[in-house]
Amino acid sequence: MANDYYEALGVSRKASADEIKKAHRKLVREYHPDRNPDDKRAEERFKEIQQAYDVLSDPEKRKQYDSGGGLFGSGGPQGGPGPFGAQGGGFTGDIGDIFSTIFNRSGGGQAGNPMKGRDLETDVRISFDDAMAGTQIAVTVPKSETCPTCAGSGAEPGTSIETCPTCEGRGIDSQGQGFFSISQPCPQCGGSGQIVPHPCHTCGGSGVTHQTKRYKVNVPAGVKDGTRIRVAGKGEAGERGAPAGDLFVTVKVAPSPVFRRLDDGNLEVEVPISVTEALRGGTVEVPTLSGTKRIRVKPGTQNDSVQRLKGEGPPRTSSKTRGDIRYRLQIQIPTELSDDQRRAVDQLAETMNGEDPRAELLRRAGAGSAGRK
Ligand SMILES: [Zn+2]
Ligand SMILES: [Zn+2]
Repeated sequence: MANDYYEALGVSRKASADEIKKAHRKLVREYHPDRNPDDKRAEERFKEIQQAYDVLSDPEKRKQYDSGGGLFGSGGPQGGPGPFGAQGGGFTGDIGDIFSTIFNRSGGGQAGNPMKGRDLETDVRISFDDAMAGTQIAVTVPKSETCPTCAGSGAEPGTSIETCPTCEGRGIDSQGQGFFSISQPCPQCGGSGQIVPHPCHTCGGSGVTHQTKRYKVNVPAGVKDGTRIRVAGKGEAGERGAPAGDLFVTVKVAPSPVFRRLDDGNLEVEVPISVTEALRGGTVEVPTLSGTKRIRVKPGTQNDSVQRLKGEGPPRTSSKTRGDIRYRLQIQIPTELSDDQRRAVDQLAETMNGEDPRAELLRRAGAGSAGRK
């Protein structure tokens, strides 16, 4: 159960009279008891819809409801002669809902022009390579649009909507008086207040068509995972010529098996180098976005040190420049040695004899051979 009349009709607090009317008409079609025989919940919902419409379709009542003032100012809980105080009738059960309405006004209206169409959201997945190079993707979005045949009226072109003769357009068959009376939907029009003698053949009278639209979306080169692209004007149609909403496409980029994207937009790759390359230096071949290049490894390279290739990274979406690729050098220590290699390492160790790599550490610790000297 909605606890707010606007919620009951699924419209924003800024909804125009026309929007309210349309929302009501649509809901009435959906929840009409004739369509939902023996469905208690549909019946409850239907009553709720009518109740909400009864208030929101009347500018005076709506104003009063919006301000909340008329409800408690002169009566209500205090039992004075307010609009709620005296009525009673079938509505005592709804007072709780009115309370929650007043204390729970989270809104829900769209900022800006209330007639603007709704925004739509969708996701697309692209490969890492496409993200780097930029691409164009087709997105498919289901959306409802104003029926092109009847322009949203629901009436077959050339025919017109007529005011319901039974309820004279009120949509409600009321007994009692005042703000809360016992109301029933008009049996002829189902509460819409209008009858469509000749429903539009395209939309069946709803004024809305549901369709699947395909759009091509340009994904800029260098796009990051999670980027949201706005496609202006491709959301839901606006009411009666008002601007359409926007389509937002969230781009999910598949991870690369090679490159890792850094927070600063650059790329990083771990590059294995051999012990001898680290010792003697040289140039090594590394992957780039377009193939391979060679980078210099200087003699005495330390593990985990970084070499950069400037401008080889992803295009920056904010400028025409490109980021860098950082190559993090990982010295590979062999876990097994051949006899020849072991002899060579023995020789190396001999030539390096006397150099204690821990001398400085131990001196600082005030211990060891260096410290005791
Ligand atoms: Zn139509
Ligand atoms: Zn009627």
